[in-house]
Amino acid sequence: MTTRDYQALDRAHHLHPFTDFKALGEEGSRIIERAEGVYIYDSEGNRILDGMAGLWCVNLGYGRQELVEAASAQLTQLPYYNNFFKTTHPPAVKLAEKLVQLAPEHISHVFFTGSGSEANDTVLRMVRRYWALKGQPQKQWIIGRENGYHGSTLAGMSLGGMDAMHGQGGPCVPNIAHIRQPYWFGEGRDQSPEAFGRECAAALEAKILELGEENVGAFIAEPVQGAGGAIMPPESYWPAVKAVLAKYDILLVADEVICGFGRLGEWFGSVHYDLKPDLMPIAKGLSSGYLPIGGVLVGERVANTLIEEGGEFFHGFTYSGHPTCAAVALKNLELMEAEGVVERVRDDLGPYLAKRWSELAEHPLVGQARSLGLMGALELIDPATGERFDKALGAGNLCRDFCFDSGLVMRSVGDTMIMSPPLVISHAEIDELVSKARLALDATAARLARTPQP
Ligand code: PMP
Repeated sequence: MTTRDYQALDRAHHLHPFTDFKALGEEGSRIIERAEGVYIYDSEGNRILDGMAGLWCVNLGYGRQELVEAASAQLTQLPYYNNFFKTTHPPAVKLAEKLVQLAPEHISHVFFTGSGSEANDTVLRMVRRYWALKGQPQKQWIIGRENGYHGSTLAGMSLGGMDAMHGQGGPCVPNIAHIRQPYWFGEGRDQSPEAFGRECAAALEAKILELGEENVGAFIAEPVQGAGGAIMPPESYWPAVKAVLAKYDILLVADEVICGFGRLGEWFGSVHYDLKPDLMPIAKGLSSGYLPIGGVLVGERVANTLIEEGGEFFHGFTYSGHPTCAAVALKNLELMEAEGVVERVRDDLGPYLAKRWSELAEHPLVGQARSLGLMGALELIDPATGERFDKALGAGNLCRDFCFDSGLVMRSVGDTMIMSPPLVISHAEIDELVSKARLALDATAARLARTPQP
């Protein structure tokens, strides 16, 4: 089939996630046919550096035969069985053990799901169940953050703080509130990052007092916001948030779906920021995206209560701990460990990327270039004013399209360009990523200079 054949069939029958169906139908999709290492290849033969690791998930890169073999062996041995009704199987047991070994010390158990969204649905059920068992069923409220992302199921989107999603999918799950995000470049540049970080943590305390401390069960946040725009909070933020949560005895849920498995140079973002969360939803990099699997890592405090005082927890998925997905995830973690992937991100690749990435801050279109581990963002600004472009110009989307043209996948969130490449990227490939990003910035600047202001 030709590219046009695929596009015609795609238009005829396929509704894509997070897509304006009509606009895509008019433009046509790009057909990705194969991949190797950090590169994807489209049906026109273009080689494109995948600066997003798929959707922040292909941590070990493409084409790892060991993962294919792990899937194949498990499919032959036991393709599917469940963990309901007092059964289990070796892949789920071994993966649970490995996760607890890699996670911070107080994490003792894992509940498996099929995705990150299901992990956050599980979080919501588990938090409310925990407090009910503790004799405080009124501790129903969960506080999330504006522009946080926790998935697309009803609970996931309710915990998240994406206005556009709430607008379409509401009414949301009740008893979820949101506070402001610690997005210094976007919302706090009139003060120092440290003062702004403390102000955002104070917003948490104010919300707790508004709702009544006796009614708030948990606070959920990504250690670094991913989909919201690769937003690293000011250094003052997490210590202040932790102090507030301890003061009012409120659980911390650190959504590790993106930050987990090496992205920030530690096995978990919570380790980088020393969070010690009670619950940690995971997915994506758990299997390097080769097969769908997620879960919730559960700390002793919650696990002990669920186990000792619980009775039946009426919650679970057909694919909770799916044997083939679990076997691939286990092999993925073993390979990451054996190859020292996480340490390399922390000690070598992260610092190298930070050095090269920060050079882009000199580009006239860039107001800030930030990165942590192998996650980064560029804030696009109008060189004439030093402020954001008019939204109608669509500078971010323009830049994203120029990236594709120059053979690089970056994502745009408004006028923030973000990247999160596979963790096996080489120095030379980082150089290539940075120079292609620069080409795209040049092309964007040239186009915008020719575009009349709206
Ligand atoms: N939490 C976070 C932080 C995420 O980034 C995502 C996905 N981008 C999810 C949850 C939802 O995961 P999934 O798409 O696997 O349901």
